[in-house]
Amino acid sequence: MTKQMTVTQEATEILDRLGVAKAAWTGGTLASFSPVTGEQIATLPVASVADVGAAVERAQAAFKEWRLVPAPRRGELIRLLGEELRAAKADLGRLVSIEAGKIISEGLGEVQEMIDICDFAVGLSRQLYGLTIATERPGHRMMETWHPLGVVGVISAFNFPVAVWSWNTALAIVCGNPVIWKPSEKTPLTALASQAIFERAMKRFGDVPAGLSQVLIGAGDVGNALVENPKVALVSATGSTRMGRIVGPKVAARFGRTILELGGNNAGIVTPSADLDMALRAIAFGAMGTAGQRCTTMRRLFVHASVYDQLVPRLKKAYESVSIGNPLTSNALVGPLVDKLAFDAMQTALEASKSMGGTVTGGARASVEGDAAYYVRPAIVELPRHDGPALEETFAPILYVVKYTDFDEVLELHNAVGAGLSSSIFTTDLREMETFLSARGSDCGIANVNIGTSGAEIGGAFGGEKETGGGRESGSDAWRAYMRRQTNTVNYSNALPLAQGVVFDIE
Ligand code: NAD
Repeated sequence: MTKQMTVTQEATEILDRLGVAKAAWTGGTLASFSPVTGEQIATLPVASVADVGAAVERAQAAFKEWRLVPAPRRGELIRLLGEELRAAKADLGRLVSIEAGKIISEGLGEVQEMIDICDFAVGLSRQLYGLTIATERPGHRMMETWHPLGVVGVISAFNFPVAVWSWNTALAIVCGNPVIWKPSEKTPLTALASQAIFERAMKRFGDVPAGLSQVLIGAGDVGNALVENPKVALVSATGSTRMGRIVGPKVAARFGRTILELGGNNAGIVTPSADLDMALRAIAFGAMGTAGQRCTTMRRLFVHASVYDQLVPRLKKAYESVSIGNPLTSNALVGPLVDKLAFDAMQTALEASKSMGGTVTGGARASVEGDAAYYVRPAIVELPRHDGPALEETFAPILYVVKYTDFDEVLELHNAVGAGLSSSIFTTDLREMETFLSARGSDCGIANVNIGTSGAEIGGAFGGEKETGGGRESGSDAWRAYMRRQTNTVNYSNALPLAQGVVFDIE
């Protein structure tokens, strides 16, 4: 960014370069702000409930065509999306930083994640496989086949404004499904940009049915119209547990399918045998990275009493010295909070910590870009016990630190929260490591050893248990959620034996 250019001007230039029509982000009623400076950067027209219904009809028509396209050919479209994303990486990554406030390397990293899932999905398009299963009947064959599911509705959160869409879309498209995306109302511009990039890929591909990929701009009411529409076969919703509590039962009531990727309250355990230098760096990134606004951010830390005084003072020093600044114009490691609401929630949690006897280091507002932007010094809170605000996710950079002495007891505390997304242990003791990864260890969807709680790769299935919603996205066999399974039994004999020895002979 040149010195004269405002964030708004830069966003405008990027949107122009990426081919987003001006009418899509000007003259509407949804104001979009950049957390970097707090300035308003766009006013977007929003979808109505009727628009949602029309989009679902278009997607349903697209489904009827797309499900007939062979999966490897569908993969070709995602290969082209990957190519377009590679070409647009610098612009889209920067727009992520402008709209979500991430530091540049994280904005670019998010786009890299989109590219990675495209590569993964292209390979997947040639290995959507089912099982053949032994049958008890002679001259019969039994097998499972996987068919496209239907319209996929994607509802996404502000903090991963584009990666979550790509995780869902790359898989949904190779699995034969159209996608309708309702991005966060806080990050609509990156959504429009991603759609414009995908449209270029679709144009190069050629014969894509209209309505295969659509974006609906708006807030929760627009998401709700998708949730309530019985023609949306799968709702993949990423966001707070509060949102999931509303969305989950509504989709279940119409027997729809959900992937829920909700809040996390992720913890690390530092044991007596831990490599403390490594732990320090991993905790610093896990807890302060993205200004504490990752679903996988480390929010709780249990430190064994024997290493507490070696680790915690160093950690506090790192908190006091970490660079905070404008992610577009500095190399700072910590950018802004998304808005005032996030700042207020952080202050409330810190007050609650103090009133239960916690010692707070950091947490004050940092003056970086004036009154409209909310930069804050990450906070480390030493708590006398694992309780109060530590039991809930506050979407801000607060790390609660609790001393422990007994390994079995700390496992209990680790699991004693509602969320179940990510977890990690720092140890060089084989028994502790394996116990943490065993049935009586971490109850989370992600359990790491000697790395932090955040920064997952796309090859593994991503998601969490309990109040995190139970969904899985991204790698491994997450694709199965985007397809319907059919069990087929074929009789190639001259007889009609019935299973379980049932006899039903008619004259
Ligand atoms: P949020 O719940 O406020 O909003 C998320 C999305 O849900 C937005 O698009 C919003 O418009 C939509 N929404 C809200 N109410 C709705 C309703 N009644 N019906 C349909 N849609 C509705 O979340 P946020 O503040 O944008 O994101 C932060 C939260 O997301 C944190 O809790 C974080 O842990 C979580 N998150 C989880 C994951 C994960 O993979 N588990 C990933 C990223 C973020």
